Amino acid sequence: MLYKRHDKISKSYDVIIIGSGLGGLTAANKLAKDGYEVLLLEAHNKLGGFATWFFRKNKEFIFDVSLHGFPIGMKKTCRKYWNQEIADSIIQVKDVRFLNPQYEIKTDFTKTDYTQKLINHFKLDPQKVEEFFFFLSSMNFYDDQSMTNKELFEKFFPNRNDVQRFLLEPICYANGSTLDDPAITYGIVFSNFMSKGVYTFEGGTDRLIKLMRDELLKNGVDIKMNSFVDNILIEDSIVKGIMLNGEKVYANSVLSNANIKTTIEKLCNIEHFSADFLEKTKNIQLNTSSCQVYIALKTGETIDHIGELVFTSTKDTFDTEDLLDININSRTYSIYYPEIRPQEKLNKVAIVSSTNARYADWKKLSDIEYKEKKQIMIDETIDHLETLIPDIREKIELIDAATPLTVEKYTHHPMGTSFGTKFEGLEVSMNLQKEIDGLFHAGSVGIIMSGWLGAANYGVIQANSIESYLYNLQPKDEIHAQL
Ligand SMILES: Cc1cc2nc3c(=O)[nH]c(=O)nc-3n(C[C@H](O)[C@H](O)[C@H](O)COP(=O)(O)OP(=O)(O)OC[C@H]3O[C@@H](n4cnc5c(N)ncnc54)[C@H](O)[C@@H]3O)c2cc1C
Repeated sequence: MLYKRHDKISKSYDVIIIGSGLGGLTAANKLAKDGYEVLLLEAHNKLGGFATWFFRKNKEFIFDVSLHGFPIGMKKTCRKYWNQEIADSIIQVKDVRFLNPQYEIKTDFTKTDYTQKLINHFKLDPQKVEEFFFFLSSMNFYDDQSMTNKELFEKFFPNRNDVQRFLLEPICYANGSTLDDPAITYGIVFSNFMSKGVYTFEGGTDRLIKLMRDELLKNGVDIKMNSFVDNILIEDSIVKGIMLNGEKVYANSVLSNANIKTTIEKLCNIEHFSADFLEKTKNIQLNTSSCQVYIALKTGETIDHIGELVFTSTKDTFDTEDLLDININSRTYSIYYPEIRPQEKLNKVAIVSSTNARYADWKKLSDIEYKEKKQIMIDETIDHLETLIPDIREKIELIDAATPLTVEKYTHHPMGTSFGTKFEGLEVSMNLQKEIDGLFHAGSVGIIMSGWLGAANYGVIQANSIESYLYNLQPKDEIHAQL
């Protein structure tokens, strides 16, 4: 059922899920399908977390916020844990381009094409390229995590900044990786993409979330939006439920889809945790944030096909720090041609320019400086876009922009982090249940568990842990009856 804004919740649940990002949503659906009583609480007035969209001009124009591309694995996850209609709507992004002073390349972002480009365009030894891909595919979560991305690239392609850019730049955009992050976080995500390329959702994020909401309600999940959870209730190291608008709601387990640091330091009373665990939580580094410029073309206006994802940079060489510069030099354009929403026959083109960004650079500006900087970002983006689409200016209907402060405001994520936490967040997230019985976390952590696929899969992993926890709570005669 869908609770209304002022409804009181008097029932108790097997699981309460705080937050409806793709991690929370997927966990909720799996648990409900497996027969558990689930309550899903979302602070916002719509489900999806970062998987979101917004309208402008009386809903005449729509923008997707985080639908740029994800790996093929999302199809399998959706088929298994959602439904066939959702899985069937996942379609390939075929035309990915790179434009920078080092090279201009068009690719479908598959291993076959990347191998060809590395050998033919970058003139690398075919055996080295094969060894590189083999090394990546044999990496797993339990590997040695001391090797950094920088060391990985130096090991296989020493002194090849152009190759480093070709291999790492798209992943920096996908999850905020830097040269100093553990190579494992790059290896897993890059290999996921390389298996069959980049995918998107036909019909846009609004259609995906509507289909997910219908599926949750069909499977019996109780949903309440506009519900910011104040606290998680814990007694004697056991979770008891949550506090919502001053009222207690009881449950045998709680899954938080909020940021891991927020979950521990703000939603819980820290007295319940060991000193060592709190120290580890304090030391978790947040990942970086991002800026976007949203551009809608006038209805019926078309542009020549310039690719669906276009990675651009004006920098002569590649460094992951440059991608974060407030004086923007690198932009990834996602072009949403009318075909992305065939159901609605909208006949509209939208372009979103994305840039990774540091929260601190934007936070320190005065109100006037902030407005000016945002306007400069918009103006410079249009100037740059003109180099790709010369007559773009006269085709534009409206422009909007978001900064790390916008991300923070709408998502409650500390410092507007777009990709959760660095690698150390994963261990803390996975060990939460060892500190407090029945308390679990699923949300962007450790770089690996972020992005649409990472978040959804982490929701499944944590739903499994909750199921075994609840199973062990049951009186033994009930378990025998089930068996
Ligand atoms: C601009 C941008 C572009 C991106 N592009 C891509 C892309 O192209 N491909 C890709 O794979 N990934 C992309 N990502 C990342 C991806 O969207 C996220 O990693 C993923 O959606 C995060 O899911 P999550 O489960 O961690 O939850 P989140 O999306 O972080 O959602 C958490 C939810 O919890 C709610 N919440 C928090 N606290 C409370 C509380 N106390 N009470 C109630 N509710 C609460 C929030 O309101 C939110 O809805 C992008 C992210 C951004 C910001």
